[in-house]
Amino acid sequence: MTTLLNSKVAATRDTEEITPMPFCSAVGVKPGLPDKDSSRRRFLEMAMGGTVAGFVTIVGMEFATPLPMLAQSKLSPDAALQELMDGNRRFTSGRLTAHEQDLAILKQNTIEKQEPFAAVLSCADSRVPVEMVFDQSIGHLFVTRVAGNVVTPEIIASLEYGAAVLGTKVILVMGHAGCGAVKATIQAKEVPGQISALYPHIQPAVDQAGPNLEAATKANAKIQSTLLREASTVVASLVKDKKLKVVAGYYDIASGAVSLLE
Ligand SMILES: [Zn+2]
Repeated sequence: MTTLLNSKVAATRDTEEITPMPFCSAVGVKPGLPDKDSSRRRFLEMAMGGTVAGFVTIVGMEFATPLPMLAQSKLSPDAALQELMDGNRRFTSGRLTAHEQDLAILKQNTIEKQEPFAAVLSCADSRVPVEMVFDQSIGHLFVTRVAGNVVTPEIIASLEYGAAVLGTKVILVMGHAGCGAVKATIQAKEVPGQISALYPHIQPAVDQAGPNLEAATKANAKIQSTLLREASTVVASLVKDKKLKVVAGYYDIASGAVSLLE
């Protein structure tokens, strides 16, 4: 069963009072934007305004050289998910704002550090441009992509790094309409090279949901998100401490809308 992201988290918006920070100019948000953009500006202040200096010490993870913990996202997991959905709503309604940010300044601010507020595990499909789908720009999303959005050790390692070191607050595992990897698995097609190496990852979803492409794709996103939560002790620990949320979603190519899967 799917629930529209927007309605699901509408009530969870973080209403914490934010101390104004001189960040708008730093990310190039134009002054004098109409009121409807104030929440966007406020989000940017929240997401990027942290100034905590220190070193990352994550249980179970040791680095030869401690990595400096720079200004990580201060968003709660719910607020981070809300920002993703808000961005998708801007995308579906054609009111994108990411392009209003000054890319030169964003680039300058992210040369030596990154503070993405969310991570997305998406398919490699060219019709799923993740930053665009969520109306985000440089430095905002930590994106891993592999055909069929399957969880492998390398994907887990990447998402662990995003969460434990960079401070992403939500991980969205996102399947999409018309996924060729899921379709090929359903059909058990003979394919050249190593393409069929994807099949064993996706087969459990096909076994569970049957040959319907949409049902199998949604089942796959849910299975992969569960796998991520269970196979990664780092992710499991952050989820347990309510510092991270892992959710599954489905991107409808025709409408551009992302829905949460439960
Ligand atoms: Zn796909």
